[in-house]
Amino acid sequence: MIPQPHNPLALQPHAQPRSVTVLGATGSIGASTAKLLALHRGSFRVEALTAYDNVASLVEQAKLLGARRAVIGNEAHYMELKSALAGTSIEAAAGADAVIEAARMPSDIVIAGIVGAAGLMPTLAAIQRGATVALANKECLVCAGSLMMEEVKRHNATLLPVDSEHSAIFQVFDFERPETIEKIILTASGGPFRTFTREQMKNVTPEQAVRHPNWSMGAKISIDSATMMNKALEIIEASHLFPLPHEQIEVLVHPESIIHSMVSYVDGSVLAQLGTPDMCTPIAYALAWPARIASPSAKLDFTTLKSLTFEASDTKRFPALRLAREVLAAGGNASVVFNAANEIAVARFLRKEIAFLDIVAIIEKTLADVANSPLRRIEDVIEADTQSRVVAENTHV
Ligand code: NAD
Ligand code: MG
Repeated sequence: MIPQPHNPLALQPHAQPRSVTVLGATGSIGASTAKLLALHRGSFRVEALTAYDNVASLVEQAKLLGARRAVIGNEAHYMELKSALAGTSIEAAAGADAVIEAARMPSDIVIAGIVGAAGLMPTLAAIQRGATVALANKECLVCAGSLMMEEVKRHNATLLPVDSEHSAIFQVFDFERPETIEKIILTASGGPFRTFTREQMKNVTPEQAVRHPNWSMGAKISIDSATMMNKALEIIEASHLFPLPHEQIEVLVHPESIIHSMVSYVDGSVLAQLGTPDMCTPIAYALAWPARIASPSAKLDFTTLKSLTFEASDTKRFPALRLAREVLAAGGNASVVFNAANEIAVARFLRKEIAFLDIVAIIEKTLADVANSPLRRIEDVIEADTQSRVVAENTHV
């Protein structure tokens, strides 16, 4: 469970500096994290940084932040990494196991910023040594949800949400009195095709789909925002992080992305967290929790905010939202299939093999084609993930 201090003001300040490991250091979340770590040099020490294949950016960050170890996931780049780090005291390592090993190295906080189910085993490794895990990698929670939350409890780990909506909810959720909460309201920008008809969505290109109106993010999550699979994954993410049934998790379209989510209480009060759309804010919150540190994000200026608007979400134009509810109702391996099929369909769309609307159609077909079975162990997750990828790769709609 997510721990909640009884009186955050009574907590002792953290021992300084706190050590940090960043999984997915070269991505969009990784870059925002690096900005914060550079800004607060005295307060954090960087243990390990990991990336998949961008050696140049990994090395630059490792040198800038004085990391102890730099790990490249793609083994083919080991020699390149080793020679780029020659003459420094930074250790080089490579391969999927080395990424997991980096997560196992002692550090106070692990930023889980790998994209996709590839982040599952490294994130679990951090949880299993009782670390504080700042979770951006929503896909691993979608896949392994209940098993992962059990591991958090068993190893006394601390899980802090980084996804902006879940960070917002975390900041205003009364964990001591969940019965006083009527519902969670997850806000959604609506993505680049918020106002498009299905007919208009038919021929949109990857270039149009990655252009998010408010947030600057990696390619995969940008496509997820365009299909609203991102919100679908976030409903499932929220159902694991917060003790409420998914029927009490509502999606509300809010095109300005200023209110990052809200919690509605039984007495009619609605508590919200607001800010400019910049991931530095939720990452800063997780890095310093339960304290707060300065972030380079632009501050909200209410006098120049023209208006905050809201629309009901539309499950007809964005069927991913309907599928998320069906997946939660089905249980078992459905959420693994849902996520894996999406990862494959997004990659196929980015390679221009399929059309935009085929993404969710392939997910729906894969869900129908892969038999449901229970998830008892993490191996069951891996098996369902592997199988679903093959099915989704060969599904034509
Ligand atoms: P990104 O594509 O920009 O970066 C992904 C990172 O993961 C890179 O460092 C890459 O090297 C690494 N990676 C990819 N495949 C890997 C593999 N097989 N093994 C090891 N490392 C691998 O992605 P991002 O936008 O930073 O998103 C990261 C995660 O955070 C995603 O789960 C996303 O949904 C979530 N998230 C991102 C944002 C955002 O603003 N970017 C906001 C909320 C949540
Ligand atoms: Mg989000």
